[in-house]
Amino acid sequence: MTVRGWAWVTLLVLVAGLVVTAALLVPWHRPPAPRSDQLAALAELPADKVARARHYRAELRLIAYPSMILGIVVALILGLTPLGAKLVGLVPGPWWAKAVGGGLLVLFLADLVTLPLAAVGHRISVRYGLSTQGWGAWSIDLLKGYAISAILGAIVLFVFFGVTRLAPNWWWAWASAGAACLVVLLSFIFPVLVEPVFNKFTPMADGPLRTRIIAMADADGVPVRDVLVADASRRTRAVNAYVSGLGPTRRVVVYDTLLTEAPEDEVVSVVAHELGHAKRNDVLTGTLIGALGSAAMVVLLFLIGGWTGLLHRAGVESLTDPRAIGLLLALGTVAGLIGGPVQAYVSRAVEARADEHALTVTGDPRTFEQMQQRLALVNLGDPDPPAWEQTLFGSHPSTVERIAAARAFARSHR
Ligand SMILES: [Zn+2]
Repeated sequence: MTVRGWAWVTLLVLVAGLVVTAALLVPWHRPPAPRSDQLAALAELPADKVARARHYRAELRLIAYPSMILGIVVALILGLTPLGAKLVGLVPGPWWAKAVGGGLLVLFLADLVTLPLAAVGHRISVRYGLSTQGWGAWSIDLLKGYAISAILGAIVLFVFFGVTRLAPNWWWAWASAGAACLVVLLSFIFPVLVEPVFNKFTPMADGPLRTRIIAMADADGVPVRDVLVADASRRTRAVNAYVSGLGPTRRVVVYDTLLTEAPEDEVVSVVAHELGHAKRNDVLTGTLIGALGSAAMVVLLFLIGGWTGLLHRAGVESLTDPRAIGLLLALGTVAGLIGGPVQAYVSRAVEARADEHALTVTGDPRTFEQMQQRLALVNLGDPDPPAWEQTLFGSHPSTVERIAAARAFARSHR
């Protein structure tokens, strides 16, 4: 069999693995959330606050969508014209200097064009009182983000183009295995290496709330060593909680804003949702899907790399030339556009299951509902966003969907 033949076989195996993993681990059947309950829930929310949240989201949309389109257009121009190749060609020195220096140049250029829009978005958040950051703190966050991307990007670029030189025919096999391992490694180290760059995490103080949470987690069969509190208030008034990490790095994190903003019962309800993620190993599921998806993407890149018309458009002879970084960026952007809505769909299904878990564990749909209302009102979320936006980008069911699901749950568990 030819090398391309092996690549096709590998791609089929990876896609089959992806389909099986997703079929087994994603809760495709979602608990009911009748639209009539959704509309009733919407009508019960304070109209003035909903209107303000919708104004905020409308203003953000005017920034977010142009920024997204601009980012896509720039990536396509860099990849589908010789411009990206020319930029990388400007960097002097051996292959690794071109790969790392030129690669970061192309990637940052794509980021830089949307920077003014990001600044406008920040201004809107400050104006609505959601963001508590001044320009100084905002810029420092931005620079920290760039620094982390630059370090990670430099390693990936160096290793990728190094492997293509060492194994000119079989690089795709090494790179796809490497991409899968990188996704797993990042999931594992993210909470201990990256999150602390942006926030300080302290164990929740002893007291009745902590005792209740630890007891609930024990009873639920998901013992947590600690519940961590993040100093989110340095940045935002928004309230949130999440689970991250794998195995020994797994942790439940609540924002300090949640503790000051919400009564104890509601915090317990939020943590019960997070325990649902921990119990079903949702981080692991996401990591596995991400690892298989990235591995498949690398093999697909190799196969697309045989398309000479595309290479000529980008002004390169081969994908393994560092000057092809613009083309790689463009292909990655297209993959992200296709994969985004699929990822959002899976995320919403997983979130709905975690909600159901919270309802089962607490047996308190009323508090869950109040918590959802507070989450939406404090975070200035649109409780019932347009269906197309929810389909394309919604990582969670909408607030009214979550409340409707709680009402349906309450009816069936009376
Ligand atoms: Zn969740």
